[in-house]
Amino acid sequence: MDIRLENFTKRFGPTTVIEDLNLTIQDGEMLALLGPSGCGKSTTLFAICGIHRMDGGRLHFGDQDVTDTSSQNRNVGVVFQSYALYPHMTVAENIGFPLRIRGDDTASRRRAVEEMAELVQISPYLKRRPAELSGGQQQRVALARALIRRPDVLLLDEPLANLDAKLRLEMRAEIRRIQRETGITAVLVTHDQVEAMSMSDRIAIMEEGRIVQIAEPMEMYNKPASDFVAGFLGNPP
Ligand code: ADP
Ligand code: MG
Repeated sequence: MDIRLENFTKRFGPTTVIEDLNLTIQDGEMLALLGPSGCGKSTTLFAICGIHRMDGGRLHFGDQDVTDTSSQNRNVGVVFQSYALYPHMTVAENIGFPLRIRGDDTASRRRAVEEMAELVQISPYLKRRPAELSGGQQQRVALARALIRRPDVLLLDEPLANLDAKLRLEMRAEIRRIQRETGITAVLVTHDQVEAMSMSDRIAIMEEGRIVQIAEPMEMYNKPASDFVAGFLGNPP
């Protein structure tokens, strides 16, 4: 479903870091939120998942206004750069945890976990603990856990930042495959222009709390709206 931020404003104490930001993530697309460190990408993501209260504006999931809905009552899946898997639980228990919280019965949980494990290609490792997995495998588990409740939107905050170069390449393609196969609406926060170019349907470029351009990757590369965008994409005038 469409995710729509209207006139989103966020302050930390006296400092306004985001003012009147408008952004629509279209149903089924992967939108990359790209910009330098400190420009407000994570703050925007936290507003969508409900970790942060909004100081102004409205947020809609499809037809529903969720501005005042608590984060527990929003159906969002999140993956951060530190995957924060539960170390004492097996892979299967990690993936199924959101369903246990929801009160699903054991049999339906097991079916859902097996299906998700297959999607992210982690099936042989269901009985292991996170510490017995590689970084890429741990990230697959985090993705499966984020997707198991079939969320309205998948939020990825620098998900590849902790991986070495080879794994990063592999997981770029994998995250994109999983997003396409599930058809889920997704936001990828990144400061890496190559990652944004290669993984997304559209890129929104942020500069100091504002979105300065939204376009498909090649269109943005070929027709940057400003020197900032051009420089950031590595295609300076
Ligand atoms: P990005 O994810 O693009 O690197 P952030 O959204 O984390 O940027 O931060 C945007 C701005 O808000 C930065 O100037 C940052 O210092 C500030 N900021 C973020 N979180 C907090 C916080 N909890 N308290 C105060 N300032 C914050
Ligand atoms: Mg951030």
